[in-house]
Amino acid sequence: MEEDFQWADVTANEIIKRDKKSYVCSSGVSPSGVVHMGNFREIITSQLVTQALLDKGKKAKHIHYWDDYDRLRKVPANIPKNFEKYIGMPLSEIPDPFKCHASYALHFEKEVEKYLKKLGFKIEIIRHSEKYKKCVYADEIKKVLNEKEKIAEILNKYRQEPLEKDWWPINVYCEKCKKDSTKILSYDGEYEIKYSCDCGYTNTIDFRKIGIVKPLWRIQWPIWWHHENVDFEPGGKEHYNTSGGARITANEIFEELYKEKHPVDLKYDFIIIKGVGGKMSSSLGNVITLKEVLDIYEPQIVRYLFASTRPNTEFSVSFDMDVIKIYEDFDNTERVYFDEKQITNEKKLSKEKRIYELSYIGKIPKKIPIQPSFRHLTTLLQIYEGNIDKVLQEYHKKDVRIKERAKLVWNWLEKYAPDEMKFKVKDKIDIKLDDKEREALIKVREILKKERIDELNLHNKFYEISEEFGINPKDFFKVAYSVLIGKEKGPRLASFILEIGKSRVIRLLDQL
Ligand SMILES: [Zn+2]
Ligand SMILES: [Zn+2]
Repeated sequence: MEEDFQWADVTANEIIKRDKKSYVCSSGVSPSGVVHMGNFREIITSQLVTQALLDKGKKAKHIHYWDDYDRLRKVPANIPKNFEKYIGMPLSEIPDPFKCHASYALHFEKEVEKYLKKLGFKIEIIRHSEKYKKCVYADEIKKVLNEKEKIAEILNKYRQEPLEKDWWPINVYCEKCKKDSTKILSYDGEYEIKYSCDCGYTNTIDFRKIGIVKPLWRIQWPIWWHHENVDFEPGGKEHYNTSGGARITANEIFEELYKEKHPVDLKYDFIIIKGVGGKMSSSLGNVITLKEVLDIYEPQIVRYLFASTRPNTEFSVSFDMDVIKIYEDFDNTERVYFDEKQITNEKKLSKEKRIYELSYIGKIPKKIPIQPSFRHLTTLLQIYEGNIDKVLQEYHKKDVRIKERAKLVWNWLEKYAPDEMKFKVKDKIDIKLDDKEREALIKVREILKKERIDELNLHNKFYEISEEFGINPKDFFKVAYSVLIGKEKGPRLASFILEIGKSRVIRLLDQL
C-alpha cells in the first residue's frame, strides 16, 4: 500500500485496522439554532473520511444525525424573545420561528440539507427525535439505567462534587407540558419509569411504548455508537478537555458498557471569522453559514478548503481579497493533478493529488477543465455590468464552470469586494482635462481607430504618447483611468481597454 499523507486517508487507515466488512462513519449536530460553518466541519470531516474509505475499496457509509430531541437551552440571538417559553422542550417539538417548516429543528436542518447534495455528499440523515419517539433505543436505555452506578463512577472521576445518589443518566420529557422539568420517582429495573413534573403531572410509563426518554448527551454517544455500529465520529475541540471533556468521558463509558474499543475519533478545531477569533456560536449570532459560503465559493472549493486543512487547525473562511488567492490555489492544485511534472517532491505531489480527488465532485475528466480566473472575471463582469451571457461570449465557450464561477464572482463583487476592486466603465467624460491630457487621449483614440493593435504594442504606445506630450507616464495612466472608470487605478490599462472593446472606448473618447 502506498503511504498516505492526506489527513482523511490517514484516518481511514486507522479505521481499517478495526478489520470489519463494512464501516460506519457518523456525525451529529444539535439544530439548536443556525447551523454554522463550525458545525459543518463536523459533517464534512466525517464525509471526507467516508470518501477516503470508499476510495480504498472499502464498504462504508456516512450517517449524520440531527440531535433534535435535545432540549432548547437558550434562545439564540436571531430568534424572538418569546421563544423562552419553549426552553426545556425538545427542538423537534417547538414551532418554526420563521413559520416555513414543521418545527424549529427542521427549519435549521433543512437550511443545511439542501446544500449537501450540491457538495456531492453521500450521506444518510437521521433525525434523533423520530428514533426516540419510536422507542428505538429502549434496550440501550434499559442498559444505562441498570448500569448507572458504573457510569456515575466514570463521570465522578472528573467532578469536584460527586453526582447525587438519585442521579439518572436520562431526561424524561413530560407528556403534558413537553418540558424536561421532571423527576424520576422510581424505576422497576425493566422498562417502567414513574416520573413527576413541575407542572403537576405524574405518570408511570413503559419506555418501549412511550418515547419521552432521552439519554443525557454524554450517554447518548455510547448508545448511538453501539446501536449503529459506528466506527468513526469526529468531535469538536471543546469536547476533548482532558479534565472531563464530554467526548473523553463518552469514550470511557462506551468501553465500560460494551466492552469494546470506542470508535476512532478525530478532534477538529474551530472555524473562525477572520480577524475575530474564537468559537462561532449561534446563540451569540456571530456565525457564517454554508449558504453564505456557497454564495461565493464553488462547492468543490468548499471541499477543497477542508480537504487541504488538517482538522486540528483553526482556520477562517475568507470573504475579503483572500477569496481570489483561494481560487488561485485551487486552480493550481488542479493543474498539478493534470500535469504532475509541476511538483518534484513525491510526498507533496501525492498529497496535492489526493486533495484534488477529494475535492472534485463527480468523475474527474480526462482533460483539465477550463479554468476561468477569478480575478479576470472580476474585470470582465464589471465591464459588462454583471451580464454573464456577454462574459461567456468572451470565452467563446458555453461552459458550466465559467457560468457558475461568474455568478459567484458577481456575488462577491456585490457583497464583499473592497472598493479598490470595484469600477464601472463610464459612457460620459465627466472630468476636466488640460490641453496636454486632451491631446494625449485623442492620440490614443486615433491609434485605436487606425490600427489592429495587440496588448503589448498598445502598452508601449502609452509611453510614447506620454513622452510626445510631455506628461509623466504615471500621470497619463491616472488620467486614462479617471476618464474610463472615474478612479486613479484599475486593471492593466492596455488589456483593460481591449477587454472593454475598442469601439466602446472610441465612443467615449469621441466626446473629447
Ligand atoms: Zn422554516
Ligand atoms: Zn409537565
